[in-house]
Amino acid sequence: MNNELKELYQQVILDHNKSPRNYGKPGEFNHSAEGYNPLCGDHVDVYLVVDEGIVKDVRFEGSGCAISKSSASLMTTIVKGKTVEEAESLFEDFHDLVTGKLTDEEKIASLGKLGVFQGVRDFPARVKCASLPWHTMKSALRDEPTKVTAEP
Ligand code: ZN
Repeated sequence: MNNELKELYQQVILDHNKSPRNYGKPGEFNHSAEGYNPLCGDHVDVYLVVDEGIVKDVRFEGSGCAISKSSASLMTTIVKGKTVEEAESLFEDFHDLVTGKLTDEEKIASLGKLGVFQGVRDFPARVKCASLPWHTMKSALRDEPTKVTAEP
C-alpha cells in the first residue's frame, strides 16, 4: 500500500471510530441481525428499514475494535438509499477487496472511501473485523438473525 493510501486508511478508521455514523438502535426497523467475531471479540447489531426493495435506513450498535466499528459506520453511510441488490453487490465487492481477490485499480477506485479498507488485506486477523458488519448486514437482509463469522 502506498503512503497516501495508508494515511487515508488511518484517517477513515480514526474518524469513524471516534464519531460513528448511524449509531444506535432505531425505534423502528424491519430487518436485523447480530454478528460476532470470536477471534477479536467484536460484536455488532445491524438494523435495517427496507421498503419496496430500498434500504431506507441502516443503523448499528455494538462493541469492538476500531476496525470493526469504523467499517460498520462507513457501511451504514454507503448502503443507505441503495437497493437490496446493490447492497448485496457492495458486500461482494467489499469482501473481495479485504480478502485480496479484488485487485482491479479502477474497480477499487469506484468504491470510493470503501477502497481504503484494502489496507486490511495485509493483516489477515483484521479481515474478519472489517467484514463482520457486512456479513451481519447481509444476514439481516436475508432474515438470518445471527451471524458468527468463522470465515473472513
Ligand atoms: Zn476486531
